[in-house]
Amino acid sequence: MILIQNIETYAPTPMGRQDFLLMGERIAHLGPLPSVNLPDLEVIDGRGLLALPGLIDGHVHILGAGGEGGFASRTPELMLSEVIQAGVTTLVGCLGTDGITRSLAGLLAKARGLEEEGISTWIYTGSYGLPIVNLTGGVESDLLIIDKVLGVGEVAISDHRSSQPTHEDLCRLAGETRRGGMLSGKAGLVHFHLGDGSRGLAPLRRILDETEIPMSQFLPTHINRNPELLMEGGSYARSGGLVDLTTSAPPPESGTRQIAASRAYKQLLDGGVPAERVTMTSDGQGSLPEYDAGGVYSGMGVGRMRSLFEAFREAVQSEGLDLGTALLPCTENPARILKLGRKGRLATGQDADLILVERDTLALHTVIAKGRLLMSKGELKARGTFERG
Ligand code: ZN
Repeated sequence: MILIQNIETYAPTPMGRQDFLLMGERIAHLGPLPSVNLPDLEVIDGRGLLALPGLIDGHVHILGAGGEGGFASRTPELMLSEVIQAGVTTLVGCLGTDGITRSLAGLLAKARGLEEEGISTWIYTGSYGLPIVNLTGGVESDLLIIDKVLGVGEVAISDHRSSQPTHEDLCRLAGETRRGGMLSGKAGLVHFHLGDGSRGLAPLRRILDETEIPMSQFLPTHINRNPELLMEGGSYARSGGLVDLTTSAPPPESGTRQIAASRAYKQLLDGGVPAERVTMTSDGQGSLPEYDAGGVYSGMGVGRMRSLFEAFREAVQSEGLDLGTALLPCTENPARILKLGRKGRLATGQDADLILVERDTLALHTVIAKGRLLMSKGELKARGTFERG
């Protein structure tokens, strides 16, 4: 049991000063509590701190990804400490460009391993290409048979690395995913990876124009990868669509045209996009391949989960957003869009996933996932199985 006393709380809605009693994996009580003295009760003094929902990162290459520069450019697997230091308590793992040497069975095993180590995990079935790699015969049956599967992704469109899927292929995939989601009571999202290609969101718009599948079934990502796509994403979101911003970015010297996620979020809000339609994800452990003007591979970076927390902080400190608004894309919005009912909001009965940050600097102070203390006073209290010492 953990008692957190007298802490300014953003649920993400501002709630003023509150007390929290965490029992097992849940928030047993959120509200004023008398001082109690119980054995085995860990008491945290909340003065000078803020309580926020643990962050949700909906796009992480937990098994590693990449490989676009040959085998030596395959990126490493995720370790638990990187999740904790990002203030993330829930993530969704996915494959990327490589759906051959990275398998869905491996992805599922890695997600289960991270869950055993203390956080909450789900996965997308599929990878960049079509025909879709899957575990049980198709996307629809993966959704129905495997609890951890929430949808399909990241499926690449408008990218030279995509399988150049036809319109008919994409419609069929979206239909299967919607059906699987409905039958399993899950989100059934199609998570599209957008490349730098000039077609942008056109393949997605055509699916919406020519089928009955609603916009809420699609979550296109990397919308901030260049100014043109961000502008197109803004009009897509104003017309009712959901958009995901990527917080990991190639270094500026690589000539990237990516807009920082915090800045892109502010631009979308200023352009009239409702905050509920925007999510942010880290693309952690993903490759950040760089190409020269002729499309020839020239170097590789790796996405970091910590960039998600940094984007939240920059949204407050550099873009001037209020804390509640800055939190939405990495807490309440992904929980609602991914249909994770007990995640993303602080309330009695919700999962005990929360982070405490310093009020003045927003530095990460404490991480609690499913009621377990994973970081305290900035120090790791848990590590992955192979991170001892
Ligand atoms: Zn991607």
